[in-house]
Amino acid sequence: MFVSDCLGVNEKGHLTIGEMDTVVLAEQYGTPLYVMDEDEIRKNARAFTSGIEKYYGGKGHVAFACKAFCCKEICRIADSEGLWLDVVSGGETHTALSAGFPVERLIFHGNNKPATELADAIDAGIGRIVVDNIFELELLNQLASAASKRDKVKIQLRIKPGVEAHTHEFITTGQIDSKFGFALETGEAFEAVKKALEQGNIELVGLHCHIGSQIFDVAAFAQAARVMVDFIAKIKNDLGHQIAELNLGGGFGIKYLHEHTPAPYESFMEAVSKVVLEGCRTRGIDVPTIILEPGRSITGPAGITLYTIGALKEIPGVRTYLTVDGGMADNPRYALYQSKYEMLLAGRANAPKTDSYKVAGRCCESGDILGVDVPLPKPKVGEILAVLATGAYNYTMASHYNRLPNPAIVMVKGGKSRVIVRRENYDDLIRNDV
Ligand SMILES: *Cc1c(COP(=O)(O)O)cnc(C)c1O
Repeated sequence: MFVSDCLGVNEKGHLTIGEMDTVVLAEQYGTPLYVMDEDEIRKNARAFTSGIEKYYGGKGHVAFACKAFCCKEICRIADSEGLWLDVVSGGETHTALSAGFPVERLIFHGNNKPATELADAIDAGIGRIVVDNIFELELLNQLASAASKRDKVKIQLRIKPGVEAHTHEFITTGQIDSKFGFALETGEAFEAVKKALEQGNIELVGLHCHIGSQIFDVAAFAQAARVMVDFIAKIKNDLGHQIAELNLGGGFGIKYLHEHTPAPYESFMEAVSKVVLEGCRTRGIDVPTIILEPGRSITGPAGITLYTIGALKEIPGVRTYLTVDGGMADNPRYALYQSKYEMLLAGRANAPKTDSYKVAGRCCESGDILGVDVPLPKPKVGEILAVLATGAYNYTMASHYNRLPNPAIVMVKGGKSRVIVRRENYDDLIRNDV
């Protein structure tokens, strides 16, 4: 009935997450409030690991892309599930290491990693660095030669496989006109492989691609895998080098709205395994270790945001605005991509959605909108609005616009709730002001 399995309705007609009453949570912790369900996160992570187990003989790793949701507790959960982590900055790396996450299971991404962050990553003994461009390849080799560690730095090269994924332009990344990685069709990627093999202080262990985000099309992933296996075979044939790891990135779509029909997460590995295993057999190359990097699909469905409804502004003959006590500062995704969300009144979760509202935040910005033409029951001021499937790219994209403190994050599990990120206060906002 809801977009996520962890949601339900209790006997009072209140929305629940992990069987906890959301109206009570809003009262207890205040609003705006992010709430996440731990079992849902673990269930989604396991769907990817079991896909690798079932269809690929377990020869792979799932790296949670923590740009989707990053705090110490998610790193601990990822660790306890045996996941790797995909990090894109010194800040994310620091978060993971502070939570005790093993450094050898970190994969460092980014199209312009600062030299200082690369040097720190090498010193820390980071698991993999995904090299984006030739400048970075050379820089990394220099940094690695200067580093105290004697082991070569293990790298993957980011490849643009030229596969079209049908999703929003801002979140497609696999085609030639993208800021990320080396293009395959121009020969740039092959030159990069040659160059990487010539460097003395780095070890080319893998290739990486990531074709976009919020993708529903299993065939697009299979196609990307096919292109990458062909490239691995070419490298083996022409250069005699066996690529050991194939990192296929993330981008698996989730259900934001009822009409979204994401493929079961296991099915990606089912399709990819077929392509890779068969491709390796026919081309006589070794089967690479597969790495998947799901972000949104692990935490997105596990989160909701609770707001208190403020003024309702009816503009006769135009529309009615419903305002909440958060907005683009805690969820900029409508402003960025016109992303649509399912919303409901937490205290009347089954009430028929008889009306339609433009849901606006509290920031001084006309673009501070969470949804347009959102079907809802007629709300009263002070009721709790729940926005569903906000567990990815909400908290990590939050800003302090208008000096709004970031909301708290509460995790629910086994009928209990706990704060995993405290609500910011005004002093947090001025902490670095001089
Ligand atoms: C963003 C990103 C991911 C995760 O994407 P999702 O759509 O959240 O699954 C994985 N790998 C790379 C390199 C990324 O940039």
